[in-house]
Amino acid sequence: MKADVAIVGNGVAGTACALRLARDGIRPLLIGRGLPVDRPPLTKSALSDGVPRLLSDAARLDGCGVERLDGMVFSADLTARMLTVTTEQGEIEIEAESVVLATGLAYRSPPVPGLEDAFVNANPHVFDALGPLLTSGPVEAIVVGAGLIGTESAASLAQAGHAVTLVDMLDRPLDRLHDPLPELGRATLDELGVRFIGGVAIESATGYSLATAAHGTLEADVILVATGGVPFLPPGLSLEVSELPVAVGDDMLVPGHERVYACGDLVLVPHTRFGPMRFPHWDAAIGTGEHVADAIAGTTALYDRLPYWWSDIGPRRLAEVGFAGAVESWVEEDGLHVGRDGGGAPVCVLVVDAPRRLREARTIVQEGAA
Ligand SMILES: Cc1cc2nc3c(=O)[nH]c(=O)nc-3n(C[C@H](O)[C@H](O)[C@H](O)COP(=O)(O)OP(=O)(O)OC[C@H]3O[C@@H](n4cnc5c(N)ncnc54)[C@H](O)[C@@H]3O)c2cc1C
Repeated sequence: MKADVAIVGNGVAGTACALRLARDGIRPLLIGRGLPVDRPPLTKSALSDGVPRLLSDAARLDGCGVERLDGMVFSADLTARMLTVTTEQGEIEIEAESVVLATGLAYRSPPVPGLEDAFVNANPHVFDALGPLLTSGPVEAIVVGAGLIGTESAASLAQAGHAVTLVDMLDRPLDRLHDPLPELGRATLDELGVRFIGGVAIESATGYSLATAAHGTLEADVILVATGGVPFLPPGLSLEVSELPVAVGDDMLVPGHERVYACGDLVLVPHTRFGPMRFPHWDAAIGTGEHVADAIAGTTALYDRLPYWWSDIGPRRLAEVGFAGAVESWVEEDGLHVGRDGGGAPVCVLVVDAPRRLREARTIVQEGAA
């Protein structure tokens, strides 16, 4: 089978890339299992009604001119741009003019004996079994890992009426993020009745219990693991793990390969203002996916999209524009948390529970570039 552009991965970035290519009259082949599933609802609405949300349905994709192949790429020769895809009908060989890698992050349980049986709700297919469990009535749930995904998940479960314990090896939820996010996260969890236990070292697990070093055995009906993801390429894609995330060039090309592009959580993207930036968030997946499509269509603009992420922790609405990695100091100014670089220019603004002030936050960061 021949394709003009074969996109490996039908998540947020791959789907954005496919829709943009189709808009520009280039017919993409979007490869991935099933229909494209959105990720943010997996820690929010899907934990209350058990149902993942689609990014786009078959009718819309067909109507836009996006071809789909329901399967997983399991080997590839990127020099020849040949992909082998496993489908229910058997193996299919694809020979592509251009290849786009959009395989995102792999979310797995940490290597603790027994923890591999826990649910990893960053993966949509897990909801086939998890959904019915959560919608059959209140359960006791343990969430392992208090980063954004785990903290959001714990809050959503509590809002849905479940009894939730959130554990982490670190002392505070959202501990790897800048202040005041850990305190805000903790306060919201307390308000929702989530029990947070920090400093937890898990020694072993079953589907229903965790044996810890200093906190005894913790038991629950359901255990969710949210300990983060790592950039992921399927075996055979001829890049080394040490090359991940993939540092793409201004043209979004993978170094050392012809007409092989990458986007989404997989990449370190050269940002005009912030330099090479790893920013694994939804809006950047859309932005880099569309940027790849533009590069394939022959547009040579540089990547300058203002970084933006949001998080809903129960009722709390967090949103941030700019790049926290460039901040030297944070100050609260008129209700906004403004981060400035070494020269005093605003490079990041955190907006808490004030979605209408997002535009103002953008202006502050944009004017900081002048
Ligand atoms: C649970 C969760 C909640 C999130 N919530 C937020 C939020 O509230 N706000 C925010 O800003 N960001 C959020 N994010 C981050 C955001 O969703 C990601 O940055 C975005 O999904 C990355 O897009 P991607 O296309 O790179 O990867 P993904 O969307 O993860 O898609 C990768 C796709 O590639 C497929 N794939 C992998 N290997 C193969 C293969 N060999 N062959 C074919 N297909 C393959 C996978 O099955 C998957 O569908 C969240 C992420 C997760 C996981």
